[in-house]
Amino acid sequence: MAFKVMLVYPNMRGMNMLPPAMGLLSAVLKRAGIEVRLFDTTYYQSVEGKEVDSDGSKSDRLMARPFQMPHEVTCKTSNCFTDFRAEVQRFLPDLIGLSCTEDMFKLGVKLLSQVRDLGIPTIAGGVFPTFAPDIVLNQPEIDIICRGEGEDALLALCQKMERGESYDHIANLWIKKPDGAVKKNATALIDMNANPLIDMSIFEEARFYRPMGGKVYKMFPVETFRGCPNTCAYCNSPSQVQFYRQETGHSYLRRKSFENLRRELKFYKDVMAAEYLYFWADTFLSWTERDFEEFCELYQEIRLPFWCQTRTETITKEKITKMKNIGCARMSFGIEHGNEQFRQKVLKRLTTNQMMLEKFRIIEESGIPFSVNNIIGFPHETRELAFDTVRFNRQINAWDRNAYPYSPFHGTPLREECERLGFITHADIAQSFVVDGSILDMPQFPRKEVNNLAKTFNMYVKFPESRWPQIRQGEAETEEGRKIYTALKEEFIAKFWSREPAAAAGEEG
Ligand code: SF4
Repeated sequence: MAFKVMLVYPNMRGMNMLPPAMGLLSAVLKRAGIEVRLFDTTYYQSVEGKEVDSDGSKSDRLMARPFQMPHEVTCKTSNCFTDFRAEVQRFLPDLIGLSCTEDMFKLGVKLLSQVRDLGIPTIAGGVFPTFAPDIVLNQPEIDIICRGEGEDALLALCQKMERGESYDHIANLWIKKPDGAVKKNATALIDMNANPLIDMSIFEEARFYRPMGGKVYKMFPVETFRGCPNTCAYCNSPSQVQFYRQETGHSYLRRKSFENLRRELKFYKDVMAAEYLYFWADTFLSWTERDFEEFCELYQEIRLPFWCQTRTETITKEKITKMKNIGCARMSFGIEHGNEQFRQKVLKRLTTNQMMLEKFRIIEESGIPFSVNNIIGFPHETRELAFDTVRFNRQINAWDRNAYPYSPFHGTPLREECERLGFITHADIAQSFVVDGSILDMPQFPRKEVNNLAKTFNMYVKFPESRWPQIRQGEAETEEGRKIYTALKEEFIAKFWSREPAAAAGEEG
């Protein structure tokens, strides 16, 4: 009988992005004859009594346009914990593999606790186990962690377990021993070009649909790069680059070969009937000039609309024109903070506002709709400084914009700063910035203020400044405040979301 692995993805509802890592791990295991099943919590209506809905909550706070999910997507009303136990008892896996980011960790552990009595070994991988191994291994529900890339490590673990051999020396694994000691192995990089195509068969059909700009498409993720060349202080990506450089002496930054990319793109187009693609790369346009040309040529064969995110520094008029011609339908950019000095000093993003405005103008002229990302509630930030972000956004004719409360993820320099300042302890686990808001208690910018400003951010950006006192009233968590907020929200949707951004610009303050 084949070795069996149950993968667990403790996602929150409405985080509709398909997890490519789950499909990739499944493909790697199945290629070696291992049986795989996925337990994914994305479409549970309610988890622990909380009706969390990430995409719904974005749209509720005017950060994404309202959308209607297609009939393929229905929510499960049953209890995810009892369902998980029943699923494990039916499948009887030899190993349970949890993959999670920090904000998904608590739910992941709670799921594992439902089946601990069955004596099945568990492994946790992903960004959080990589950067907070002590916290993760401290959980009695977790036996092994994978630090860094999991494709080779998970396969080797399964094969060793199946053969009844010791798995004490597998690279990337930290293993809890019966006496409480931890066997820590060295880190290794995988060859991403040796990876198979993502296994789509483990996902429910509902997972293929995602909203984009107010419409829902059958959409698939395409990995082009691993890693990001930039060094933003609040992000895990540079920490990954640094981690691998220190541990292996090699660069984590790698790109997929064009041969593999073509194979994958054709699979999504011809086999999966994709309507839209999203490129899963931290900074999409970090190609060399030659690679970018090659990509454009390759994509001529595909021509499906696509979304990507990149840094404004990578934009040129020539590149944007080419992107438009091959099917780029939407882009996203990080602004993160509107105060240039603050952005440079605290966030380590070295761009200037002037340069960003010039680049946004190029994108606007191309006609490609774009959205911008902002963050509120950084350490050292004040409400006044946050309004520099509001003011800067008012100068940019983005199709959509979001502003989420800052989340201090383990492994980032800003997390360390938060701990140093006493806003948080090392053991505190960051939660979903989309649904749960800020977890920092900062005297100069209290959590409530941060969350309320994030909620009204788009109103401050789009309505004339003369309306700001009214919006301030709408921030209040009182009956009157909620009434004002609802009225402003309705006005916002009618005024700004019923037309293209260029047409709406004249109505801004
Ligand atoms: S550009 Fe984006 S992915 Fe890269 S380090 Fe900055 S925030 Fe992270």
